[in-house]
Amino acid sequence: MTAQIIDGKATAEKIRNELAERIAGWEVKPYLAVILVGNDPASLIYDRNKQKAAQAMGMACDIYHLPEETKEDELVELIERLNGEPRVNGILVQMPLPRHINSSRIIETIAHEKDVDGFGPYNAGLLHENDPRAMAAATPKGILYLLEQTLGDVTGKHAVIIGRSNIVGRPLSSLLLNKNCTVTVAHSKTVNLPALARQADILVAACGQPKMVKKDWVKEGATVIDVGINRIDGKLCGDVDFDEVKEKAAYITPVPGGVGPMTIAMLLDNTCQAYLNQNYNLKK
Ligand code: NAD
Repeated sequence: MTAQIIDGKATAEKIRNELAERIAGWEVKPYLAVILVGNDPASLIYDRNKQKAAQAMGMACDIYHLPEETKEDELVELIERLNGEPRVNGILVQMPLPRHINSSRIIETIAHEKDVDGFGPYNAGLLHENDPRAMAAATPKGILYLLEQTLGDVTGKHAVIIGRSNIVGRPLSSLLLNKNCTVTVAHSKTVNLPALARQADILVAACGQPKMVKKDWVKEGATVIDVGINRIDGKLCGDVDFDEVKEKAAYITPVPGGVGPMTIAMLLDNTCQAYLNQNYNLKK
């Protein structure tokens, strides 16, 4: 068997086009504020890509680029100012922040209705409680979208998620549980991970370990989602050994072109949802 490739790039483009059509009909455009502290080159590229994607869809988006030595209180002040500005619908603070800044305090400062990354405790709590008002983190939301598009209803499927971070593994476990999957979350201390992974109907690798998931970790016909973004000798690869695993899985996401493009699309989707909630109290 050779797996069918789940094309995240094409799906993300379709979502962005649909959002652009809707935004074209809105007199006031959604506005996303992206805050970047310091000069990490990768973060700068990520943020410029987000800005370009937002603007291409007809949204307004500014990057607030602050110097590395910005004080925590100054950053809090900026976020509080943006919280109070009605034209600002979404606020995103690029992680990681410089070490002298407490990122938990910063995330908690973002007004929950503008927390389009969904990293704050309010939205994380709502998601945990299966409350439809939750703004879910963009990467897990994109993964769920790809899974439902590929498999339809995921009820009853056993999902094994490798990784328990607050931005991928944990929120994804809630999203899948809310969709009636049976969810197992594995991590660096999990014992006999390959045997556990082999039980999965849906196997998600989000551990940042290049090509760790091998063919013999995968049940025949499973759906494999690779969240990892790693480099080997400058070449991009995921947490799954794609060439091996595609011979056993039924569906698989590539790296690049799988989960990555969905993250930006879902961030912009969250920003539109925040805009509608704030302006009209409407569902998209
Ligand atoms: P993280 O470092 O915060 O968490 C990694 C998790 O993997 C931890 O829970 C850890 O326990 C687990 N882990 C680490 N080594 C392991 C091992 N050997 N066996 C089992 N579990 C192990 O990482 P993160 O922020 O969740 O990101 C994970 C990966 O996904 C990274 O490669 C990151 O670059 C990528 N990522 C991609 C996107 C995207 O848009 N495609 C978004 C976020 C993260």
